[in-house]
Amino acid sequence: MATSVPPSAGFPVTVSMLPPLERFVTELQDIWDSHRLTNAGPKVQAFESALRDRLGTSHCLTFCNGGAALLAGIAALKLEGEVVTTPFTFPGTTHCLALNRLTPVFADVDPVTYNLDPAAIEAAITPRASAILAVHVFGNPCDVEAIEEIACRRGLKVIYDGAHAFGVRVRGKNLADYGDVQMFSFNATKLLTTGEGGCLVYKDATLEDDLRRLRRWGMLEEGDVTMPGANAMLSEIHAALGICNLEQLEEERRQRQQVVAAYREHLAGLRGVELPSEPSEVEPALTYFVVRITPEFGCSRDALLQRLRDQGVLARRYFYPLCSRLPCYSHLPGAEPGATPQAVRIAEEVISLPLYGGLGSAGAEQVCQIIATAQADR
Ligand SMILES: *Cc1c(COP(=O)(O)O)cnc(C)c1O
Repeated sequence: MATSVPPSAGFPVTVSMLPPLERFVTELQDIWDSHRLTNAGPKVQAFESALRDRLGTSHCLTFCNGGAALLAGIAALKLEGEVVTTPFTFPGTTHCLALNRLTPVFADVDPVTYNLDPAAIEAAITPRASAILAVHVFGNPCDVEAIEEIACRRGLKVIYDGAHAFGVRVRGKNLADYGDVQMFSFNATKLLTTGEGGCLVYKDATLEDDLRRLRRWGMLEEGDVTMPGANAMLSEIHAALGICNLEQLEEERRQRQQVVAAYREHLAGLRGVELPSEPSEVEPALTYFVVRITPEFGCSRDALLQRLRDQGVLARRYFYPLCSRLPCYSHLPGAEPGATPQAVRIAEEVISLPLYGGLGSAGAEQVCQIIATAQADR
């Protein structure tokens, strides 16, 4: 049974999934027996193999976190110039471009999926563009077919930040099938977690050596250093946690599905609360449950957030402010006032409600009651 029991007081935005401790100890026993802690040992290899099976991909390497995986994935593509990307994401997405000395160019998003709008991508492409970096925000799939078509026609690489999208399928096809490279995060706030961790899936098998070198100080074997690299390896202990958590992912998903159903039921009638879209062809991520508080609600998103916090519900503004509003990126193309009106509005209205298996439908109902009372009292 998944043990996502909430801490005693209130409702955090999420509670990390953990395996039964006895199960984890059996994995640790192997590590204690072998004294092998890192350098892509048996646990990392077993976890990578399980990830390949799960994602239906032949190429997948783990990293010490999702950010490191994305940094390495971008570096391995050897890009130059500009990369068209979304402003509505976690700052880490944009940082991975900047740290690779690429220029982010922000394009607007779709008002329903919150993901890059293909028409806006097209309009943002200049002769300096070398790639598109799209994010499946909250696990909502990007318009992957349209992005692939644009990239193909304009000669661009496609990078996906799939931090929220582990296991998401569209029309039966895993999202891991798309993009030249794609990152999944196993951070403690994500559905599948190793504490810190992440992986990169990639299409071109010839990237593997560079990715391994980027992950281990530029070397494949000790002493053979051919390029600069960092240490971005996942440890055996983290991989062991991933192996255990994969075993109970379905159970956690089943519980989260009930929480989401309860949210949808109890928020459905509330004026000014826009529920996330649920396209029938998508098997959802269940990483976040994000609603929009529109002006019809009667009090501001931030006032509601405060009210929730006062009552122990630690809802969050995922994602606010836009990356294009951060002082380090506000000079970039697409950051001008009025350039991305949909993204601006979405960032002002979103609120991420607690989502974890242990919340249960009763917990979700309690959160909904606080929201309903906030509206009635305003
Ligand atoms: C969590 C997250 C990351 C970073 O992943 P880490 O594993 O924490 O490094 C990057 N992008 C997005 C959109 C995220 O939510």
